[in-house]
Amino acid sequence: MPLSDNVRNAIVDAVEQGFTDQIEFTKALVRFPSTRGQEHEIMAFIAGQLSDRGYEVDQFDMDPAALEAHEGGGRITPEHSTAPIVVGTHQPANETGRSLILQSHVDVVPAGPDSMWHHPPFEPHVEGDWLYGRGGADMKAGQAQIFFAMDALRRAGFAPAGRVHLQTVVEEESTGNGALMTYLKGYDADAVLIPEPEEEMLVRANVGTLWFQVEVQGKPVHVREMGSGANAIDAAYRVIAALRGLEEAWNAEKTDHRFFEELDHPINLNIGKIEGGDWASSVPSWCRVDCRIAIYPGMKAADAARQIEDTISAFAADDPYLSNSPPTVTFNGFFSEGYTLDPGSEAEAVLGRAHHAATGEDLQSFVTPGYLDCRVYQLYNRIPSLCYGPISENIHGVDERVSVESIRRTTIAMALFIAEWCGVEAIET
Ligand code: ZN
Repeated sequence: MPLSDNVRNAIVDAVEQGFTDQIEFTKALVRFPSTRGQEHEIMAFIAGQLSDRGYEVDQFDMDPAALEAHEGGGRITPEHSTAPIVVGTHQPANETGRSLILQSHVDVVPAGPDSMWHHPPFEPHVEGDWLYGRGGADMKAGQAQIFFAMDALRRAGFAPAGRVHLQTVVEEESTGNGALMTYLKGYDADAVLIPEPEEEMLVRANVGTLWFQVEVQGKPVHVREMGSGANAIDAAYRVIAALRGLEEAWNAEKTDHRFFEELDHPINLNIGKIEGGDWASSVPSWCRVDCRIAIYPGMKAADAARQIEDTISAFAADDPYLSNSPPTVTFNGFFSEGYTLDPGSEAEAVLGRAHHAATGEDLQSFVTPGYLDCRVYQLYNRIPSLCYGPISENIHGVDERVSVESIRRTTIAMALFIAEWCGVEAIET
């Protein structure tokens, strides 16, 4: 049922009242340099914040065997984070409303060279409308929004009339195993909202993602007899060119994929890291290349993996050197399918009303060519999965920043969404 004017106004006021604290809280989150594997401290902080607010707190570890057995489980390597997953639960005394998951991730990608940043990446600061810092947009602003949207309801004198799980995960940037772990642990609800920085729009469809490493062996000799050796780095370049061919072939199929027809280049292959060789005057004997590629929704990760392997082995078979020394391929991270959000769900209608009340605009949707945890909820929980959040720039780049006014607007929208989706009951304040 749409919210009454009184309830709506009280919630909007409550978000405004908490907003200065919310930005300080966001900055506090950015100060944790929570790159992959370094999230234990921030997770302890999150657990403390949840318990201070009276949520029932559940902390649990990744279950590598269960994750590996699942078709969407990211491949586990020694770099896989061992930080716990933390879930806080609001359980209404008298549960009459729809349930909801609010999810965020606290892992952030490496900052890159500090010298390229105008301010140190983990020292957040606000300049004009922008809050700067690694992870501020992706997605510590969203993490704070989850806390403060729920706090605003309470400050306005309401509690959600449905069960709400506040789920904080890791491994969003490399495997998606954190979100998958919450599913394997049994967490479920009638809908999920993930406040990733999505330009105040709703994600309609999203690609799947695979990570893999190609290893090429060379034949090491002194450079004076280079012709008798084989250069692993040169050979790796040839393999990369073959993979670019696969990338173009997949992009050429975009018109067969609903929602992807209009995108310029939906399938991006990123050569993310390359290492090899030992010495400038020795023909290199080894080269390793770390790659990330996207796949359309509907394609299984295992099928895509097979096509990647086939592309490399077919190329190697025709290459004079590689035919005798074929490259090896190891999947070492994301192994995920994409998803689409079917238009017309009640959850989307409720978010549309909340967004309109907060911004005066109709809610737009768009398609993103990057990984999102929503795939777990859409594909496995089979619930409407809403990815929606503030305007940002330079995520995964330098001088990552998120718009403060956009945080304000989307927090109002989130609070109104929670209130209407779950319903509210009056509480003593
Ligand atoms: Zn993110």
